[in-house]
Amino acid sequence: MRRIKIAVVEGDGIGREVIPAAITVLDTLPLDIEKVPVEIGYGKWKRTGKAMTDDDFDIFESCDCIFFGAITTPPDPDYKSVLVQIRQRFDLYANIRPIKSLACTGMGREIDFVIVRENTEGMYSGIEQVLPDAVHSTRVITRRGSERIAEYACSLAFEKDELLTIVHKANILKSCWLFRDVCIDIAERRGIRWEDMLVDAAAHRLVLDPGRFDVIVTTNLFGDILSDMSAALIGGLGLCASANIGDNYALFEPVHGSAPDIAGRGLANPVAAIMSLAMMLRWCGRVRESDAVQDAVYDTFARCVTTPDIGGGCSTAEVATAITEAVERKLAA
Ligand code: ATP
Repeated sequence: MRRIKIAVVEGDGIGREVIPAAITVLDTLPLDIEKVPVEIGYGKWKRTGKAMTDDDFDIFESCDCIFFGAITTPPDPDYKSVLVQIRQRFDLYANIRPIKSLACTGMGREIDFVIVRENTEGMYSGIEQVLPDAVHSTRVITRRGSERIAEYACSLAFEKDELLTIVHKANILKSCWLFRDVCIDIAERRGIRWEDMLVDAAAHRLVLDPGRFDVIVTTNLFGDILSDMSAALIGGLGLCASANIGDNYALFEPVHGSAPDIAGRGLANPVAAIMSLAMMLRWCGRVRESDAVQDAVYDTFARCVTTPDIGGGCSTAEVATAITEAVERKLAA
């Protein structure tokens, strides 16, 4: 099997804890993997005045994908988000955020859905006009952008014959007409069960009855907000993984940021990073290892080995060690 080359960006804050924790899990897997550390973020900006350079991009281009921690935003008015730059450069148009309840979180309800968020346009098009007394932010929705995210979401729904929920605000925004209509056309053509829902109604239903959702497809800003809200339904940001996927490249990262309030104290929950690792392994075609990592996380939660955000008393490293040992048991079985 071909060697996999991964760019590893710890970044700032708890990124420096959760990514090394996930790497200890990766290192127990019998895989031929080359890890290339790349320093970008606030720490680099303080040292050099730049959060990321062209050389960093050259390294990314030489790798199969990126495993990413979190970046603290530098206090610089000209700073452009490194994540947004990477998403644009590699055209990572699909942001995939699975929301699945785990044992021992005290959240009670059975939840298992995925948010498929368009990642390159919408309110985050970057087209903004700053006038003296007003600022105009342009919301761009294109047919091509809507088609490819709809195709991606339909493929996920097709895999398990699941319901596709198309979330939009077409009663107010004309840009959402196009998004909604394209999604409906593609779902119809591919024989996917679908419904459409206004984003405000979707937020309400997600809180009241999250178990009814399977695959949600939506535009950039709506997906951003709904996924953080959904994280709260299962126990918090420390549990939520994500993938940014393009046609030929991908970046995997926990949904949470650098959380400077808890950084450096061994309190960070490494599960979001470890589940992102599992998504990366699946994307790289290492399905058995991906399943082993995911199942090891479920087992560890079933034994209530958790960090303080979930009510447990374990450190970042202790949770990672428990998951690593569970992976070893699974692969040996
Ligand atoms: P940033 O500015 O980098 O986005 P932030 O602190 O504003 O960072 P997040 O890092 O997303 O935002 O987190 C919000 C809060 O959630 C944190 O302050 C922290 O208390 C909690 N949190 C986030 N991630 C984790 C984690 N992995 N484990 C435990 N708590 C977390």
